[in-house]
Amino acid sequence: MSQHFQILIIGGGNAGISVAAQLLLKRPGLQIAIIEPSDRHYYQPAWSLVGGGTFDIHKTVRAESSVIPQGVTWIKEAAETLEPEKNTVITREGNTYTYDQLIAAPGIQLNWHLVKGLKETLGRNGVTSNYSFDYAPYTWELIQKLQPGQTAIFTSPGTPVKCGGAPQKIMYLAADYLKRKGWTGKVNILFDTAGGVIFGIKKYAVELQKKVDEYQIKTNFKHDLIAIDGEKKEATFKVTDAEGVSHEVVHQFDMIHVVPPQSAPDFIRKSPLANEAGWIDVDKHTLQHNKYPNVFALGDATSTPNAKTGAAVRKQAPVLVKNLLDFIDGKQLSGNYNGYGSCPLIVGYGKLILAEFDYDNNPTETFPFDQAKPRWSMWALKKYVLPWLYWHKILKGTA
Ligand SMILES: Cc1cc2nc3c(=O)[nH]c(=O)nc-3n(C[C@H](O)[C@H](O)[C@H](O)COP(=O)(O)OP(=O)(O)OC[C@H]3O[C@@H](n4cnc5c(N)ncnc54)[C@H](O)[C@@H]3O)c2cc1C
Repeated sequence: MSQHFQILIIGGGNAGISVAAQLLLKRPGLQIAIIEPSDRHYYQPAWSLVGGGTFDIHKTVRAESSVIPQGVTWIKEAAETLEPEKNTVITREGNTYTYDQLIAAPGIQLNWHLVKGLKETLGRNGVTSNYSFDYAPYTWELIQKLQPGQTAIFTSPGTPVKCGGAPQKIMYLAADYLKRKGWTGKVNILFDTAGGVIFGIKKYAVELQKKVDEYQIKTNFKHDLIAIDGEKKEATFKVTDAEGVSHEVVHQFDMIHVVPPQSAPDFIRKSPLANEAGWIDVDKHTLQHNKYPNVFALGDATSTPNAKTGAAVRKQAPVLVKNLLDFIDGKQLSGNYNGYGSCPLIVGYGKLILAEFDYDNNPTETFPFDQAKPRWSMWALKKYVLPWLYWHKILKGTA
């Protein structure tokens, strides 16, 4: 089967749905289709709260059919082969779709298989991850079972990840939970990260370090998780020293929260849309593809060097819409994305640092106070305001 659409969108996640809704608001009558295989749509940012036992997992999922904007055709298939020279997408189901303009928004791929033994033990043996709807509730089960003398490990991989703060947020929630029991320093908390610093922007790193000290967390930098043996409760890390020499170390755990290595989806990596690193190769300000001018992209799968977050998508979507409409109208592209990303860094129950920054890592804070200080108001924003905003405004194209 072959079908043509004026605008074809790959991915009906945060980015694909927001941009479709905004396009229709700006120009009703556009003929748009979204290729999206999943019949469920997730609000992923709340999974950190689910893992900390303070958000209902069922409130993070809705039927995909309920978020597809009215007037948009939903193709419930997976994009597989991209032929941008022919304006064509072929799906895994074997159907062919052609387009005038393409918007690629397929999100990031979680590469669980790159950590040896992980897939076999995830969800059992004290091994969990908030990066999955299926396992975030298990994180909370494990935190509550921790006892003095035990060890909880929190990992962060060496690849780009969605929400760079999420590997740490759950660690601070666990640490705060234990603190409230009077067990600070009695349960060993390890932050085993492939990175070399606690956070890339000094203003926020200073405040996070204070929390690390307060909770007596041991940080192990340049520790990249490569294998897990769930039965033996052993995690193996590749450790790289200052000279670049690597060796392996094994850490015992009673619970381990794993953030898997991540990449652009395989079908993007092998397509002509990818840059050398596999990401969709777009101009970082216009979001237009560097080789194929009728292709635009946004969200976690692009080459733009911003923090991969829903907050970034919120700023990218109106820029992409503006530029796509300019392109259709034969005008100079006028939208400009400055790399805005935001990371709501939960540092305990009722305490949140709202990091906001641009491509140059300059803080670009929204509120008229120092957002590096942990605040209850910012926690309330994350827990109560943003989920509502997501379902009722962002996915409707009005925020
Ligand atoms: C634990 C966790 C905590 C987070 N915390 C925050 C936070 O506090 N703040 C924040 O702003 N962001 C946060 N994020 C990140 C945020 O969820 C993502 O950045 C955002 O969802 C990116 O939008 P996207 O549309 O690019 O990707 P997604 O929303 O993941 O959507 C991608 C869509 O593409 C579809 N797709 C995949 N393959 C194909 C294919 N072959 N064909 C067609 N469709 C396909 C998928 O099914 C999916 O629906 C968090 C994420 C996680 C996991």
